[in-house]
Amino acid sequence: MLRTGMITFRQLILLGLAVTTGTLFAAAMKPSQKNPLAKDATECAPGEISACGLPSNVVIDMSQAKVQRTDAEWRARLTPEQYHVARQQGTEPPFRNAYWNQKESGVYFCVGCETPLFDSATKFDSGTGWPSFWQPLEKSFVGELVDRSHGMIRTEVHCNVCGSHLGHVFDDGPRPTRLRYCINSASLRFMSRAEYAAWVERGAAQD
Ligand SMILES: [Zn+2]
Repeated sequence: MLRTGMITFRQLILLGLAVTTGTLFAAAMKPSQKNPLAKDATECAPGEISACGLPSNVVIDMSQAKVQRTDAEWRARLTPEQYHVARQQGTEPPFRNAYWNQKESGVYFCVGCETPLFDSATKFDSGTGWPSFWQPLEKSFVGELVDRSHGMIRTEVHCNVCGSHLGHVFDDGPRPTRLRYCINSASLRFMSRAEYAAWVERGAAQD
């Protein structure tokens, strides 16, 4: 039997391409510690390896979003890929996206609004080919919904300010949270540490 500690996520993804039944993964991906937010995670285990590779299908309540734009405004603001991922809950290919291997110090903002979502200090190499973080900058900025699409139970995450889809969160991340926020680069906009400091200063000046 495979043990998760002995193989990388990348290997698991490659394996996932060859195996269509979930039996093997169910055995391989049993999480040792469960996140109460994803208590059905064992049911999602078969797809967990490629979970980011599948789009979402959740109902994000846009009436609650502080930033609201018309569809035409969203299309004008975003590239077609950003629009597809952030506004249509799509996904992008692993290893062929802007930030999966980004190591620079800075902050990742929501592509749809001026909300800082993740700090590079919490970014880690998950081997999945998508930018991965073990914690959001501010938990209240990131909304969670149960995503039951594609025969899996996953926890979808989105920007709470503008409703843009970000990715999913899983409970197989590193310490200290053991969470893995698997986020699409297309939903993010990177700001270097210096740019971020200037942004914070501008905000403080406006207050
Ligand atoms: Zn946003």
